[in-house]
Amino acid sequence: MSPSGSPGFTRGGLTVHREPAELARVTRALRATGRKIHLVPTMGALHRGHLELIRRARRDINSVTVVSIFVNPLQFGPNEDFDRYPRSFEADLAACEDAGVELVFAPSVEAMYGTDPQITVHSGPLGEQLEGATRPGHFDGMLTVVLKLLNIVRPDLAFFGEKDYQQLVLIRRMVRDLNLDARIQGIPTVREPEGLALSSRNAYLTEEQHSAALALSASLTAGAHAGTGGAEAVLKAAGEVLATEPSVKVDYLELRDTELGPAPAEGEARLLVAAKVGATRLIDNALVLLGSPGVSEQA
Ligand code: AMP
Repeated sequence: MSPSGSPGFTRGGLTVHREPAELARVTRALRATGRKIHLVPTMGALHRGHLELIRRARRDINSVTVVSIFVNPLQFGPNEDFDRYPRSFEADLAACEDAGVELVFAPSVEAMYGTDPQITVHSGPLGEQLEGATRPGHFDGMLTVVLKLLNIVRPDLAFFGEKDYQQLVLIRRMVRDLNLDARIQGIPTVREPEGLALSSRNAYLTEEQHSAALALSASLTAGAHAGTGGAEAVLKAAGEVLATEPSVKVDYLELRDTELGPAPAEGEARLLVAAKVGATRLIDNALVLLGSPGVSEQA
């Protein structure tokens, strides 16, 4: 697929592109043949959560799936884990190949940002709440790289996990507010059998921390079960579970509406939690039905 001399390389049925302009050329040519383009942005260290996004992207047989693997420096704060973020490029390529992915985009930081980038996306008031309150600038950096990826690939459909719920809401918001063309597909969170949401950062956890971290998903399940009692009951039930694990340092536990505005009195709401377990910051969330009998999804 890549002309000789291009920075891309092929491995089995997979072509890896390093240069934005080259990938843009390839996706444009594919689109001209009538194929749909599906995009799955990731930071690599692929796990079953990422693979579920890929599986969903590949379900449409008329589509070509592009998986991007790029640890985006712009979305990490100065004291965050950019340098030690897990990187497993060879294993990621093998996983993509096994999953039937045709195109991987793995640019260097220089290829992605050039030498003197000046313009970024501002994530607005929602970008300063929840995750944004603890991670200033995180969502500006995330939206900037997502906008660049959408502009390079021009996907018909881009896939993001509900695991990063605020990210998903902000991306939908950017698409609406900036009149972007792409459609955004949210995918439910993939979990370990015991409930812990899969995350590349779970690799940081010791065995003991891993078992303490189960309190996050357990708290969401307890909160969801308390939905009939209303918002206060949900927060109380979830908070009680978190309190059973003193090593889990809660950053926030909040109930919001599905767009992350104030929680409604009734109907669909989102319960979101962030906590530090040792030095590792974990996030999780679940849908909660308020004021009606019945629980939405398993947390
Ligand atoms: P990341 O590599 O962490 O930036 O994640 C890339 C994409 O995978 C994002 O859209 C995440 O929301 C999604 N993702 C991460 N973990 C999970 C999970 N456990 N289940 C579903 N999607 C996930």
